[in-house]
Amino acid sequence: MSLAERDKKVIWHPFTPQKNRLDSIPITKGSGTVLFDDKGKQYIDAISSWWVTLHGHAHPYIAEKIYQQALRLEQVIFAGFTHEPAITLAERLLPILPNHFEKIFYSDNGSTSTEVALKMSIQYWWNQQSAENLAQMPPRITRNKILAFKDAYHGDTFGAMSVSDRSVFTLAFHDLLFDVIFIDTPTNENIEAQKQFIQAHATEIAAFIYEPLVQGAGGIKMYEADLLDSLLAVIKEQDIICIADEVMTGFGRTGKLFASDYLTHKPDIICLSKGLTGGTMALGVTACVDKIYQAYVNDDKLKTFFHGHSFTANPLACTAALASLDLLENKQTLHQIEWISEKNKAFARLLQSNLNIKNVRTLGTLLAFEINKGADEYLNNISAYATRFCLDRGVYLRPLGNTVYIMPPYCITEEELEKVQETIMDLLQNINDFQLIF
Ligand SMILES: *Cc1c(COP(=O)(O)O)cnc(C)c1O
Repeated sequence: MSLAERDKKVIWHPFTPQKNRLDSIPITKGSGTVLFDDKGKQYIDAISSWWVTLHGHAHPYIAEKIYQQALRLEQVIFAGFTHEPAITLAERLLPILPNHFEKIFYSDNGSTSTEVALKMSIQYWWNQQSAENLAQMPPRITRNKILAFKDAYHGDTFGAMSVSDRSVFTLAFHDLLFDVIFIDTPTNENIEAQKQFIQAHATEIAAFIYEPLVQGAGGIKMYEADLLDSLLAVIKEQDIICIADEVMTGFGRTGKLFASDYLTHKPDIICLSKGLTGGTMALGVTACVDKIYQAYVNDDKLKTFFHGHSFTANPLACTAALASLDLLENKQTLHQIEWISEKNKAFARLLQSNLNIKNVRTLGTLLAFEINKGADEYLNNISAYATRFCLDRGVYLRPLGNTVYIMPPYCITEEELEKVQETIMDLLQNINDFQLIF
């Protein structure tokens, strides 16, 4: 049996309709931006394998560091014990994060990093109460609402789903998701109304969670830094905890180290994952400012943060993150990010006049647009067609519905990026064939 056949027998893949599902492509090797399948065919990974790969696949420097660490210590319980990779990583992250964060809390993926942030914020308010109040049954209600943006995506666990847009991803669970106050991302038209709305509801809102400047899974939607800043000013004035979900935007994606670096108003909590380990291992980070941490430093044990995961701060993952930071801080990588950003701007100008698409936008290493076919939604079948079309030509893109985007590893070469762009032009030229198939 081929790998694809064996896969079909035993595996249920994420985000994949199961009826009549196509064979998964067995990938046997990766090198730089290139993935190799079991038949030796090569694909340029233009979306960094679900937005994680920063320095290319199977990077020898990161691999060597993980190997050396695996020979020393692969995993240890992180309550009562600690280890150097976790400490060093926290020491290296804190000075580069986009605020004066005090503490790093580890978990093991993006969803858990946002769950931790939400629980930390809600309990921050709960912990403000006196011991007598805490002992009351039922306990007193404190600020416990979360404010979030429509079209947001913060992960797939229940808390993360609750603060994400009510979409096809969450449809089956709507009755079970907790109430969240959703507002539109800010525009010149709605900003004043948004501010008034927030002022009116402030006393019930514990925290505001947002993907700064780019909403990822919601469709690579971009919005203006100055508008977000002006919203954040009001939110901070009301003592609402600001949670920047930089799981996707972190580590150079938007052209700066963090998207929050474009903003004047800084988050109280930041969530990181995806590129944190250069995309090699699963790791989540939730960093918080001292004010939040201090709410947990108390004689009353009820004010402890009772949260953790088996693989919290896995030493191999922390080591991979340290190695990724080494590579990220290399001048060559920063130069690559700038170069990709410039290439994107030029490509965006070229695409502006294309009648088959709309909303061409770019920020740093990200570029996105919508194909003018069918509805602007995730279930638009053009995605499957476009993915197939590009795969056949050796480029891996995976549009979100009719939203085509590129998010390449920073090590992509000029030749490779040009091939990605040419393949997209080719796709747009042939886009009318799509009707023949569906
Ligand atoms: C991917 C993503 C998450 C969820 O991360 P996982 O590791 O897939 O659980 C959360 N927030 C944002 C902004 C993301 O892009």
